[in-house]
Amino acid sequence: MTHVFHRHLRHTPPAAVSASGMTIRDASGRDYLDASGGAAVSSLGHGHPDVIAAMHAQIDRIAYAHTSFFTTEVAEELADELIRTAPEGMSHVYLVSGGSEAVESALKMARQYFVEIGQPQRTHFIARRQSYHGNTLGALAVGGNAWRREPFAPILVPATHVAPCYPYREQREGESAQQYGWRLAAELEAAILAQGADRVIAFVAETVGGATAGVLTPVPGYFKAVREVCDRHGVLLILDEVMCGMGRCGTLYACEQEGVVPDLVTVAKGLGGGYQPIGAVLAQRRIVEAMSKGSGFFQHGHTYLGHPVACAAALAVQQVIRRDGLLAKVREDGEVFGAMLRSALGDHPHVGDIRGRGFFWGVELVADRAGKTPFAPGLQLHAWIKKEAMARGLLCYPFGGTVDGRQGDHVLLAPPFIATRDDLQEIASRLAGAVDFVTRAVDA
Ligand code: PLP
Repeated sequence: MTHVFHRHLRHTPPAAVSASGMTIRDASGRDYLDASGGAAVSSLGHGHPDVIAAMHAQIDRIAYAHTSFFTTEVAEELADELIRTAPEGMSHVYLVSGGSEAVESALKMARQYFVEIGQPQRTHFIARRQSYHGNTLGALAVGGNAWRREPFAPILVPATHVAPCYPYREQREGESAQQYGWRLAAELEAAILAQGADRVIAFVAETVGGATAGVLTPVPGYFKAVREVCDRHGVLLILDEVMCGMGRCGTLYACEQEGVVPDLVTVAKGLGGGYQPIGAVLAQRRIVEAMSKGSGFFQHGHTYLGHPVACAAALAVQQVIRRDGLLAKVREDGEVFGAMLRSALGDHPHVGDIRGRGFFWGVELVADRAGKTPFAPGLQLHAWIKKEAMARGLLCYPFGGTVDGRQGDHVLLAPPFIATRDDLQEIASRLAGAVDFVTRAVDA
């Protein structure tokens, strides 16, 4: 019997015992091709010697020092690296231990900013449906996945949810992509006005929707229109790039491709590539200045802020990405991967949509293509596909989105940036096999 509190309490997963490059091995000796980097985490794959060497060197120097006493050279170096490559105007990096902590910190930074500048009446967040921002209570409150929020709804901070940018399901007949983006921005503005514009703290959105959305890429112009709406009402724009950032979409920050600069941006996952738990909030200068001129203190913190070994891992990961030209590779091979997925799955009667950018792709599954009808939630199709893919030696990240009837089950693919074209083809082929096998069984 296991004493680990696994989330799925009736099922103990196989034990992973070793990993190298694109492959994870379990205790029975079975190898799995890692097509999702866990949950879009392992940007450099497994066992990268440069990252391991950087971590060893840091442990030998100093493994831990509390940030109320010290900064460390490695935290300073990582923050310099991140700001040098960040969207314009970002001036400081708040280093935490993961994505939920990053989002939680960003929400509190935004709130404290308004307290510092004399607008304490701002207490409300606006976010989007079908989004995921983490599992701590603040992050859960802005998250737009009804199933995740439901048991905790009575104890969450106030947040309103507007539509995500989801052209496959919600762009209207005859509406151009640009008109669709403007309509969504108008809906956001209406939601701000309904709350009272001076009561809203921030609009929170994943630049490219991830885990609970099956990779939702924004239509061109959507985020520019959103930025304008936020500016018009003095509302902050928080972009959550925990999953889609740090190169996953082919640029270090996904928002670079949208031509917008957020007030706060959160990153994690690919920041440390899974070698250490680490996340960060990058903040615009005016937010940091308001705090430094006001109370002089951010009223929030954690024991492992800027953990030196985590910083060393993240610094090494980011240096390897730059040194090896991996962003250009992700952009180029991402197009090829998209074409492979379309070729392997595009004509399948139960594949409704294939969408993505860089090394971040989603395949949405439907009971029928014409009506875009989701499979019945009770089927748990996503869980079935995950199991079948594992039986074929493939790790992908499926999720059931059917709880509110607005989306189908989907499979998320987020391979390590080191994946070769042969790896990408193998992923597409094995996934197509698993999808076909499971959907045939459902149809039978
Ligand atoms: N934000 C986004 C967009 C995510 O995808 C996730 C995790 O999947 C989180 C936040 C939470 O990150 P973590 O699981 O590291 O707490």
